[in-house]
Amino acid sequence: MNLTPGFFISIILEYWYFIPVIVLILFFRTPFFKGFIGEVIINITTALFLDKNRYHLIKNVTLPTEDGTTQIDHIIVSEYGIFVVETKNMKGWIFGSEKQKMWTQSIFKHKIKFQNPLHQNYKHIKTLERVLNIGQDKFFSVIVFVGDATFKTQMPSNVNYPRGYLDYIKSKKDVLLLKEEVKEVIQKIEMGRFEKTYKTHREHVRHVKTIIAKKQNEKACPKCGNGMILKTVKKGVNTGKFFWGCSRFPKCRETTNILTEKP
Ligand SMILES: [Zn+2]
Repeated sequence: MNLTPGFFISIILEYWYFIPVIVLILFFRTPFFKGFIGEVIINITTALFLDKNRYHLIKNVTLPTEDGTTQIDHIIVSEYGIFVVETKNMKGWIFGSEKQKMWTQSIFKHKIKFQNPLHQNYKHIKTLERVLNIGQDKFFSVIVFVGDATFKTQMPSNVNYPRGYLDYIKSKKDVLLLKEEVKEVIQKIEMGRFEKTYKTHREHVRHVKTIIAKKQNEKACPKCGNGMILKTVKKGVNTGKFFWGCSRFPKCRETTNILTEKP
């Protein structure tokens, strides 16, 4: 065999296409791709099978929550309601029911518990309800299993495979939102205008908690509104002196200045 550079170049020229194939195979196995596939399936199926004039798909919505943010992959807004779609890329057998807290995925003899996706999506809907200021009756939770999983228990009609979830959406025929309301919802979501609404909400919660704390003769935390507890300094030059600390510690770390006398 002649191992000259020319030989290697000729090998590369002949088999170059293996490189992207290997890269693709590795890529297909990543969690990123699994999520991506779910997104692509929803994007394509809604574009193909839902009337664009009636259903408006919004992708990747980040919503503010009590402890940070939450991500919703797909929201379909129509006069028939707001469909909040959660995709699951899973394989194997799936066991679960509407009310169960945990569902089970079974691959051969291997069993894995996972959170009921309806419960997960319920939180999304609760958040949307609040930031859009729209009643729960106008929301529909839709779960789509995009992998090659098989349901082994009777699933509620809003839990589906990609070939079935559109039937569920289309089965909702009552007009729940006016055309103007649909427009407003789309605008609000797309422009992220609910940030402000949410801030107001958080302010309100703090305010209510402050009132409760005062009623119970407690000192209210200036940061979160919960009651404060009188604590003693344990270390340093101020040992033995007092201060007020939030009762929600360590979630809230608000404290007052050190007091020289016990109040
Ligand atoms: Zn606090």
